[in-house]
Amino acid sequence: MELLKKKIMEDGRVLEGNILKVDNFLNHQLDIGLLNEIGKEFRRVFQDRKITKILTAEVSGIAIAAIAAQYFDVPVVFARKTESKNLDQETYEGKVYSYTKGKHYKIRVSKRYIAKEDDILILDDFLANGQAILGLKEIVDASGANLVAAGVVIEKGFQEGGKILREANVEVHALATIDAMIDGKVIFSDK
Ligand code: 5GP
Repeated sequence: MELLKKKIMEDGRVLEGNILKVDNFLNHQLDIGLLNEIGKEFRRVFQDRKITKILTAEVSGIAIAAIAAQYFDVPVVFARKTESKNLDQETYEGKVYSYTKGKHYKIRVSKRYIAKEDDILILDDFLANGQAILGLKEIVDASGANLVAAGVVIEKGFQEGGKILREANVEVHALATIDAMIDGKVIFSDK
């Protein structure tokens, strides 16, 4: 997606540890015009697919999923990372390994909001090691619903996530794939 790549080149910042900061349009401040274009692009990519629900994880996935959902005309469910009194007792759980924190954490969705009849599209901001999406897949699998595909805004193609997910038979589509980050510069894949 050319508009997205342009924005990443103009406003993205490469930090130590191969982290791409996109705080001023995707992860903290939100560029709604760009998010609308991202939503339309996800719709175009998955236009022939039956999707009844979009699943994401709090916090960064919510804005992306909510804006995209307008073009799919389906509800969004976001997995919660913290236990809360507001969450039903009956939940589907997924385990996510965080490389940055060096530990596992759980994500949960109330059983009310995913049914086995659902066709689920997972959306998220980044695909790096694939752990967040694998955790969401665990939730979909536990519910008996159909996982149609996963869409990510940015895939860090030099990390293992894409390979791990595709080997687990998850269809993955990224709107921008990064091959490398060298001397503060982002190199995109031609894919
Ligand atoms: P995973 O390794 O599970 O694929 O990525 C987990 C999460 O870490 C992503 O959903 C994203 O929120 C965050 N993440 C991974 N790599 C980056 C990065 O380079 N920049 C930012 N801003 N977030 C990242």
